[in-house]
Amino acid sequence: MRRISALIVLAAGLAGCAGPKRLPPVAPPPGDRERPGVSVPSLLGVGLLENEATVDMQAEGPAELLDGRTGVVLVRLAAGGERVSCRRDGDEVSWRGGGRDGRTTALVLRPLDPVVRVSQGDYEYRGEFLVICASRGGGLTLVNNVDLESYLKGVVPWEIGRHPAERMAALQAQAVAARTYTVAHRGARRDHGFDVFASVMDQVYKGAADEDPLCNQAVDETAGLVLQAGGDEIEAYYSACCGGTSSNIEEVWAREARSYLAAADDGPDRGGQAYCAESRHFHWREQWTVSQLTDTLGRTLPAYLDWLAESPARSRWAGPGFSPHDGSSNARRPGRLLNLEVAGRTTSGRVADLVITTEAGVYHIRGDRTRWVMPPVSGNPFILRSAMFDLELEWDGSRLLRVAVRGRGYGHGIGLCQTGALERAGQGQSFQEILAHYYPGAVLIRPNGE
Ligand SMILES: [Zn+2]
Repeated sequence: MRRISALIVLAAGLAGCAGPKRLPPVAPPPGDRERPGVSVPSLLGVGLLENEATVDMQAEGPAELLDGRTGVVLVRLAAGGERVSCRRDGDEVSWRGGGRDGRTTALVLRPLDPVVRVSQGDYEYRGEFLVICASRGGGLTLVNNVDLESYLKGVVPWEIGRHPAERMAALQAQAVAARTYTVAHRGARRDHGFDVFASVMDQVYKGAADEDPLCNQAVDETAGLVLQAGGDEIEAYYSACCGGTSSNIEEVWAREARSYLAAADDGPDRGGQAYCAESRHFHWREQWTVSQLTDTLGRTLPAYLDWLAESPARSRWAGPGFSPHDGSSNARRPGRLLNLEVAGRTTSGRVADLVITTEAGVYHIRGDRTRWVMPPVSGNPFILRSAMFDLELEWDGSRLLRVAVRGRGYGHGIGLCQTGALERAGQGQSFQEILAHYYPGAVLIRPNGE
C-alpha cells in the first residue's frame, strides 16, 4: 500500500506533459514527519534518462504496466524479459508491450514480486520504472522509483569505491553521508520530474547489477541513520581528497555558511601527514602554453560571466566579473592572455579570487569556479582537480610564455574527505568518529526511530 500511495502522490502532480512540471517530492514535507500516524513513503525518484526519443525497458520476471495517474493496471506481463517500448506522442507517453499498446501521461512498470528487477540498456534496478514526458524538450524521462536503502547500495561503491573490510568504517561513513545528502535533497529536482539525478549532478547511481557486498553491509549496518543539525538533515557534501584542509562552504560556493561545513585540517600536519596525503590526487600539476590557455579562456571566461548572470545570489557573492580596459572592450572576446594572479585565498588556502588579465580587460574568478575556467589540456578531468593551487608563470621579459598550476586535492573539499575517511578507518576510527570530524556538531539520528 505504501508503494501505491507514494506513486499516486507523485502522479497527482502530472497535469499533462506540456511545459515544466512541478511534481511534489516523493516524501512528504519535513513537517509531516513529526505528525503521528503519517507514514513516510520511502520511495525515491531517481532520474536515469532525460529527454530521450524512445525508452525500452523490461522486468526480469512477471510484472504489470500501470497508469501512473490512476493506478489502473493496463496489462500484465506474465513472463520476464518482455520488452516495453515507449515513445513521446504529443503530451503523452505512447507505449507498446505484452501484446497491447496505449497512451498515458505516466507509465509505471512494476514487478509483481519486489525481488524481481527492472532493466534498461545494460543496467538493472531494484524498485520500478516510471516513464513521463520530459519537462524540457520533446522526449521522455525515465525514473527509477526505489526505496532509499536500495538506492544507496547502487551509490556507495561508485562514490567511494570498493575497499577491503578493514576500511568498513569509511564505507559506513560514506553510506550515512550519501543517505543524509539524499534526504536533504529530496524534491530539489522536482522541475525535472524526479528527486535526484543518477550522476555527479547529485550522486552516481548504477543500480543493482554491480553492487559490492561490503558496501551493502555498510548501508545495512547504518540503515536509516542520518546527520542532523538544528533538527534538519545537514547538507552532507563530500569530495575525493581535501588536499589537507577542508573548505568553508561559503568561501567556495555562493552559499550560506554552515557551522558543520567549516575549514578544518585533515590530520595533525596538513603539509605532509594529512590523512588523505597518500591519495594520488594529493599533489598534481597542469600546464598550458599561453596560446592553449588563451583559446580555453575564450570559451570559459564568457561561460563564467553567464554563470554569474544566472542568479543574483551569485553576482552578490562574486562581485563584478569583468572590468574593461576601455570602452571598446568586449567581455565575451577576452583576446590574448596577458597575466594571471591570485589576489585572495580562502581560510583553507584555496584560491578565492583569481585575476585574469587579457587584451579585453580584467576578469575576477571566484572560489570553486576557478576550476571551470582553467580545465586541463588533456580534458581529464574536465575541470581542475581543486581550487587549492599555486600559479607558476614563465616569462620572456614582459611576455607570458607558459602557465602551470601546482595543486593539492581533488574536489570542492566541502565536508567529508573520502581518502581521509578511508585512512582514518584503516587506523581504527569508527564511522561515528569519522563523521564527527568532517561534520563537526552534527548529530547522528534515526528519524523514523526504526
Ligand atoms: Zn583530506
